[in-house]
Amino acid sequence: MKKKINREVMLIAVIAITVMAVCSILLFYRIMEKQILEDLKANAHVIARVGVTKLTETMDGDLDQEELRVTLIGADGTVLYDSLGDKTRMENHKERKEIAKAFRTGEGRAVRKSATSAKQTYYYAMRLPDGDILRVAKESGGILAIILSIAGLIVIIGVFSFAMCAFYSRCLTKRLMAPIEKMAENITLVQEDEVYEEMRPFISTIKRQHMDILNYARIRQEFSANVSHELKTPLTAISGYAELIVSGMADGEDAVHFASEIQDNAERLQNLINDIIKLSELDGKDLKLEFETVDLYELGENCLSMMSLYAQKNEVSLRLLGEHIQISGNKTLLEELLLNLCSNAVRYNKKGGSVVIKTGFEEGRPMLSVKDTGIGIPKKHQERIFERFYRVDKSRSKSTGGTGLGLAIVKHIAAQHNARITLDSEEGAGTEIKVRF
Ligand code: ADP
Repeated sequence: MKKKINREVMLIAVIAITVMAVCSILLFYRIMEKQILEDLKANAHVIARVGVTKLTETMDGDLDQEELRVTLIGADGTVLYDSLGDKTRMENHKERKEIAKAFRTGEGRAVRKSATSAKQTYYYAMRLPDGDILRVAKESGGILAIILSIAGLIVIIGVFSFAMCAFYSRCLTKRLMAPIEKMAENITLVQEDEVYEEMRPFISTIKRQHMDILNYARIRQEFSANVSHELKTPLTAISGYAELIVSGMADGEDAVHFASEIQDNAERLQNLINDIIKLSELDGKDLKLEFETVDLYELGENCLSMMSLYAQKNEVSLRLLGEHIQISGNKTLLEELLLNLCSNAVRYNKKGGSVVIKTGFEEGRPMLSVKDTGIGIPKKHQERIFERFYRVDKSRSKSTGGTGLGLAIVKHIAAQHNARITLDSEEGAGTEIKVRF
C-alpha cells in the first residue's frame, strides 16, 4: 500500500513537473517574442525619425553589432536599401507578410525563416510618410534553441522538485499509514483523537465491531460454561440416586423418594434442554418465522387456562383484562412469551398474591402486560435479568423449576417481533413487564 501511494504520488509529481516545464517554456518564448517585436518597433521608429540613409551612413558598424537588419522598400515592393544583402539581387518584397500588412494598415509584424539568412527572424515593418516601407529585422533562435539554452536550469529545477515530492510523499504515506499500522498491532490501543479526522469513523466502527466480537465470544463462553454447569447438577443427582437404588441401599419409601428425585431432576434436565434448543433456534441468523394474525386477548385466555391449575397450587389469583387486539406475529412464539412471563409472575409471587394479564394500546401501539404483586426485583438486578442464566435468587428459581433462560427467550421473541420490553418493578411490591409491539 505504501509503495502504491508513493508510486502514484511520484507519477503525479512527474506529470505536474513536465506540464509546468512545458508551460513555462512556452510562456517564456511568447514573452520573448513579444519583447523582440516591441524592441524592433522602437528601433524602427527611431530610424524613421533620423532617416534611413543618414542613419546607415553613421551607424553601419553599430547596426551589425545590434544584429539589426534594416531594409527600405519602395511603394512598388522593390528593395531600395538593405543593410545586410545586395539590394539588386533581392526579389520584390511586396508580398512579404509584414510588408503587405504595413502597406494596408501602416505597420506589420512577422516571424519566419529569412530567405536571405535561412534563420528564424523577427520582422517589424512600418509605412513612412513618403509611402516607402521601413523594415527592421532581427534573428533569434527558435523554441528549440531556447529549450537548449535553459535545459540545464530546467533539469536542476525538475530534479529538485522531484526530490521534494519524493520526500513529501514518504512523509505523507508514513503519516497516513501510521494509525493503520498501529491498529494492526492492537486495535484497542488506538484512540480516536490520535488519528486524522477522516479516519475517526472508520476506527470507531472497527473498534466497536472488535468489541462486539469479543463480547459475543465472552457471552458464548459464559453460556457454554453455564450450560455445562446447569446440565451437570441434575445429571449428578440422577446418577447418585440411581446408584443408591441399583446398589440396593434404598428400599421401600426411600426407593420411592429417590425415584421421585430422579424424575424431578430428569424433568429439570428436559426443561433446560428444551429452553436451550429454543434459544439457539431464536438466535439462528437465518431464522424465518411465519407470521399470522394473532389476537392478544385470545393469547391471554389461552395462557389463563394453561396456568390456572399452577396458579391455584401457588395460591395466586389470575385475571385477564383488556380488549381484543390483533397483531401480526408468530402465534407459537407469542404463546411461549406470555407463558414465560405468567409463569414467572406466579412463581415469584406471594401466597394470596395476584397476577393480571392486560391487553390494550399504549402510545398508539398494541401492548401486552403481565403484572404481579410478588416479591419484585431489586433495582441493581433489573438490568441483568434478561441475560441467560441470570437469576436474582438462584435457589428459589431452581426449586420452582426455573432454568434461568425464560426472560432471555422472552427478549429474543420480542426482538423477532420488533417489540419493546419495559420492566417496572419494586422490591417487595411486585413487577410489571410490558411488551409493546
Ligand atoms: P428463571 O427460570 O430463573 O425464572 P428467568 O429468565 O425467567 O429465569 O428470570 C430471571 C430471573 O429474574 C429470575 O431468576 C428471577 O430472579 C427474576 N424474575 C423474573 N420474573 C420475575 C418476577 N415476575 N418477579 C420477581 N422476579 C422475577
